[in-house]
Amino acid sequence: TGAPAVTVVGLGPMGRAMAGAYLDKGYAVTLWNRSAGKADELVARGATLAASVDEALVAGGPVVLSLTDYDAMYAILEPAAASLPGRVIVNLTSDTPERARAAADWFAGHGARHLTGGVNTPPSGIGTPEVFTFYSGPRDLFDELTPTLEVLTGTDYRGVDQGLAALYYQIGMDLFWTTMLGWVHALAIADANGIPAAEFLPYASRSTGGMSQFFEFYTPRIDAGEFPGDVDRLAMGVASIEHVLHTTEAAGVDTALPKAVLELFRRGVVDGHADDSFTSLFEVMRGSRT
Ligand code: NDP
Repeated sequence: TGAPAVTVVGLGPMGRAMAGAYLDKGYAVTLWNRSAGKADELVARGATLAASVDEALVAGGPVVLSLTDYDAMYAILEPAAASLPGRVIVNLTSDTPERARAAADWFAGHGARHLTGGVNTPPSGIGTPEVFTFYSGPRDLFDELTPTLEVLTGTDYRGVDQGLAALYYQIGMDLFWTTMLGWVHALAIADANGIPAAEFLPYASRSTGGMSQFFEFYTPRIDAGEFPGDVDRLAMGVASIEHVLHTTEAAGVDTALPKAVLELFRRGVVDGHADDSFTSLFEVMRGSRT
């Protein structure tokens, strides 16, 4: 028919949104999922459910993988490895950088080309160019696939090292989870004091929305290896987080999070950073390096 082809393997919420985005753009979409029933709605919209993994792999066009993790991927693809030669794999399954590099080698060993991706949006963002996905792997493969990739989200190519997309994704998740847990912890203290989440919302949004200004201020200093205490001192930070801990205790809320923060701040003081900025914890966290 001339319509571009794509195969989607893995029909969790993410894979279903991706297959839907390809259908919307007129692609010939082939599907495979362990639980076949998850394909029903997409098949009703015109997708083809492959009878086997091998059939899905050779249907034509790139193969987009959207699985829980790489264990699931190997569980599905190892028995079908004979169908991998000549295939192009866009691996949008999240896992560690090490596992992404090993997977790229595994695919290369079976004659398939592989691009690693790290998707930065929930399923609702799939099909919108404003959100983006990290990619890494061979530049020529990324360039060749760009029109297909851009059906899903915007793209951000990080480099040839297959682990890079996973690395950027994971450091983003580090920031995301620690920030989100800070918010949940603050909500628990608020709740213990009769303040509902909705009442705290404008304040939570304002203070986290302003955080990029802190990132911008401190980033050149961190890259220069400088942590002067001209605008904040770690010793002041210790006093501040102690107040948070005491407020937490008074509210009867779990103290694990502020205690972990306080422990890091105190280690910074022990390491001689009392009069430096809290950003000197960068040195404490990364450990000594030559
Ligand atoms: P899910 O975990 O819901 O499902 C992915 C698919 O993996 C399912 O189709 C499931 O099959 C399959 N699967 C899991 N284990 C096995 C196995 N052992 N053998 C065969 N198939 C298996 O993931 P999502 O759809 O939510 O996400 C997919 C990927 O996208 C993940 O790596 C996730 O980290 C990433 N991601 C997800 C986001 C989100 O908001 N959901 C946001 C950004 C990234 P079955 O249907 O048979 O169970």
